[in-house]
Amino acid sequence: MPSLGGETFPVLDPVTNEPYTRCAAGQSADVDRAVGAARRAFAEGPWPRLKARERSRILYRIAEGIEAADARLAELEAYDTGLPITQARGQAHRAAENFRFFADMIVAGHEDAFQVGEDQVNHVIRKPIGVAGLITPWNTPFMLESWKLAPALASGCTVVLKPAEWSPLSASLLPEIMAEAGVPAGVFNVVHGIGEEAGAALVDHPRVPLISFTGETTTGRIIAENAAKHLKALSMELGGKSPCVVFADADLDAAVDAAVFQIFSLNGERCTAGSRLLVERPVYDQVVARVAERARNVRIGLPGDPDTELGALIHPEHYARVREYIEIGQREGARLVAGGDRPQGLPEGNFLNATVFADVKPTDRIFQEEIFGPVLCVTPFDTDDEAVELANATAYGLAAYIWTNNLSRANTLAREIESGMLWINSQNVRDLRTPFGGVKASGIGREGGRHSIDFYSESHIVHTALRRLPVPRFGTGPAK
Ligand code: NAD
Repeated sequence: MPSLGGETFPVLDPVTNEPYTRCAAGQSADVDRAVGAARRAFAEGPWPRLKARERSRILYRIAEGIEAADARLAELEAYDTGLPITQARGQAHRAAENFRFFADMIVAGHEDAFQVGEDQVNHVIRKPIGVAGLITPWNTPFMLESWKLAPALASGCTVVLKPAEWSPLSASLLPEIMAEAGVPAGVFNVVHGIGEEAGAALVDHPRVPLISFTGETTTGRIIAENAAKHLKALSMELGGKSPCVVFADADLDAAVDAAVFQIFSLNGERCTAGSRLLVERPVYDQVVARVAERARNVRIGLPGDPDTELGALIHPEHYARVREYIEIGQREGARLVAGGDRPQGLPEGNFLNATVFADVKPTDRIFQEEIFGPVLCVTPFDTDDEAVELANATAYGLAAYIWTNNLSRANTLAREIESGMLWINSQNVRDLRTPFGGVKASGIGREGGRHSIDFYSESHIVHTALRRLPVPRFGTGPAK
């Protein structure tokens, strides 16, 4: 649907950086219209009043709609973001799972009730908060949209989604999927647009009591400041610079496989990427040589080619930023052991060889700052304490990974490393019931399982007297 004022912005093909379509650029009037529709659907419509079972059925139908659009979604996602098609395919499946998971959760969920003595009863109900404002990033856009939409809708909220402007295509399938699944009009609304316009208008809208945001830490700060004026509830999933700590006693084959996969899959544009590889000194040279060798063999290619492991980065602006970090790393004296340049024989889009820097110092900017691309920074350490110190030496605290055969050491470190999530001898596998999120500059709050339901709903206690209870009697006089 066009914006009210007809404004649009170009959408670029990451393979060539040519604009291939234009997308409606919603302004505050468009946001206001969407919020109005969502507000009416919340206040007057059936959605928040449906039985959990009925909402759950509709969420199941949304999941089916997503799976039916699976191939189309993967194509759009690969085309729009530059993600390799084989990796884009997994996204629709996971998005459908998100809807099924929260559909089951609301049916299984129970509200608390308890007797207070013989004559009073308390019960706690959860009420949907209202119109949920959802602001999402450009990496794995459809999956991350579903990760917010599913619990918001499951909770009985109505929603306004503002997808990222660099990857708007897949979200445009949602209105049809929602309508076919039986989601009533006004419950789901999408406003495309530029962050500082449509996104900011959503944050500033007085009828939107809560904002769920995933994106950069710098944007999160701006949103938190703007939302503070209205005292809105906030969920913030922000950036990361996650450490992957490898000890000399680890299964090095598995650790190298995971380190390489973690940083080069999803084009390195993954919030939980283990972008800092911290390696115990005795195996440092060996691990550096092995990850560099593997990086040189990563298959870089067109997103649509099923052989491609690393596609095109999302946007020329992002590409320039990642390349600037590579220059900064070289200037700072880190040792470039793989990549750093553009691969031969591909179009002029945002292709970058898988890049590895060794001997990165904790004071280097490439150690401290999120690059969000296929760039791995490797640093040696000598003791467990130093590993913890290095792991905690950035502003971020999203994920962490530890590789060692000494589980007692791993669990000691797990307590000391500042991160919302930590994997031991494993990488990024996660049950949807577990809380996802970060500490420090990586975010506020958690998504997943009941944590999401708690965010989109408010607990409300109701106290009932089962018979007349004694109340201190005021006003029986005489007045003084
Ligand atoms: P971004 O912050 O640039 O944009 C995210 C969204 O915010 C977009 O929809 C954008 O339009 C909107 N936006 C921008 N300015 C705004 C403003 N002033 N007011 C309201 N909305 C505004 O992030 P990005 O570049 O799209 O995404 C990459 C970042 O997201 C990385 O830092 C990555 O680590 C992070 N991320 C975090 C998680 C997580 O779960 N922690 C998951 C994925 C991505």
